[in-house]
Amino acid sequence: MTEKGVLTVLSGFSGTGKGTVVKELLRRYEQYALSVSATTRAPREGEVHGREYYFLTTEEFEKMIGDGAFYEYARYVDHYYGTPRVFVEEQLQKGKDVILEIEIQGALEIKRQNPGCLLIFLIPPSAEELKARLAGRGTESEEVIMARLRRAVDEAEGVEAYDYILENNDLEECVNRLHGLIGSAHNRAEAKLDQVKSIREELKAMVKGE
Ligand code: 5GP
Repeated sequence: MTEKGVLTVLSGFSGTGKGTVVKELLRRYEQYALSVSATTRAPREGEVHGREYYFLTTEEFEKMIGDGAFYEYARYVDHYYGTPRVFVEEQLQKGKDVILEIEIQGALEIKRQNPGCLLIFLIPPSAEELKARLAGRGTESEEVIMARLRRAVDEAEGVEAYDYILENNDLEECVNRLHGLIGSAHNRAEAKLDQVKSIREELKAMVKGE
């Protein structure tokens, strides 16, 4: 019996380095699958359709909402973002640990539908550092940076709902900890109950045949 994968939602203030952490996690270990979201925002330089996101028009996105094709979706700074359902379900069935890199409203919706999932919130060492990282990316206008910082203030509000908070100061350490947390989730009782049941059945059969 293939053990079902663990679904992990990684959120955090914009600019905290979620993308880099996830990339490194996937590079190191084969057990992970990253869900590619759909969005209506424009691609940034270097972003490829189907790799960073599926870049859709608002009409296309709304059609998918109507078809029930999203596991969750949310609006963030004037654009839609959503997680296509099929990929996540298929990969979990195959035993892959699926990572969703999404914001808080989406994370809470995933937890509602799938209480066994792991919610992890990534934080920068300080607010100053976060602003510096956002400005340093150089891809966003001052206006967009401000909108993201304002949104960051709101995002901290829901953080109690998360299972773990990880500081991203040192990439190596952060990736190690993330991998460790997901590893532990595989051993949570609820993830192992089927295995316990089947051992009990076998034990029962053995005792009977005594
Ligand atoms: P960005 O525009 O910087 O790529 O992403 C903006 C925010 O949207 C980030 O916080 C990112 O985690 C979030 N996001 C990306 N994809 C999804 C998604 O499928 N659903 C939700 N709810 N948020 C998403």
